[in-house]
Amino acid sequence: MIDRRYVITSAIGILLSAALAAPALAQEKLPVVASFSILGDLVANVGGDRVAVTTLVGPNGDGHTFQPSPADAKHIAAAKVVFMNGFGFEGWMPRLIKASGAKAPIVESTKGLTSQTMEEDGRKITDPHAWQSVANAKVMVQNIRDGLDAIDPDGKATYDANATAYLEKLDALEQDVKAAIAGIPPERRRIITSHDAFGYFGRAYGMEFIAPQGVSTETEASAKDVARIIRQIKAEKIPAVFMENISDTRLVQRIADETGAKIGGTVFSDALSKPDEGAGTYIDMIRHNIKAFAGALSS
Ligand code: ZN
Repeated sequence: MIDRRYVITSAIGILLSAALAAPALAQEKLPVVASFSILGDLVANVGGDRVAVTTLVGPNGDGHTFQPSPADAKHIAAAKVVFMNGFGFEGWMPRLIKASGAKAPIVESTKGLTSQTMEEDGRKITDPHAWQSVANAKVMVQNIRDGLDAIDPDGKATYDANATAYLEKLDALEQDVKAAIAGIPPERRRIITSHDAFGYFGRAYGMEFIAPQGVSTETEASAKDVARIIRQIKAEKIPAVFMENISDTRLVQRIADETGAKIGGTVFSDALSKPDEGAGTYIDMIRHNIKAFAGALSS
């Protein structure tokens, strides 16, 4: 015989659990988009458990030449807020946002920063790689925090606390960067990379970076540029050349072969590594890079 009372109790039980589950649904994570992996990590650190971050250009991806897919437009359409770098880094972004029909606010994380320019073929070009200065990354974190506070006021206390804790880590990181560079003899603080991604790092911490390819990877290095750099390395005895995680390594390999400059390893310029490759977070990326620079240049 079926125990009627038991059945009723169970039904109430199910209703109750459904009711209890409702607040959990209300606390579903806020969908947000970050244009590239480095920015995605900064957003994840500020957003913590409250946000679900989708990154468009993934680990080891090249944000200059990225070609968005329909899935990227869908992510943007579903996002409550979209974070991008700005300074012209994501040339593909305005069209993607328009195509997605997004209504969400777009936060340029470099807002308020002063951009640096580089001279290329007689033209002044804005250098987008602001994140390579840790001081700039701190401003980017503040802009991310303000963006999340504005879209999700209930989470303000959480975002503010997360940002404060992360900013303290960035303070410690910046001290380590300065200490690492201070350990390199000044005349050896010169490096070749394949594209000009380290201008902000160089100016902030006192190192010179020379690149055959310019601030964007969209155009190939010309034979003239490569020849000029090879002459410069030989004349100025530039000690080391570095591969970048987002670029073809053959150009740097060739320059090393022709000049005898040491290959200092791979550095992370415009993208994080995959989680198990040693530079899966912004902090690990900067630490990896300074270790590589110091290792190749200290003696
Ligand atoms: Zn770049």
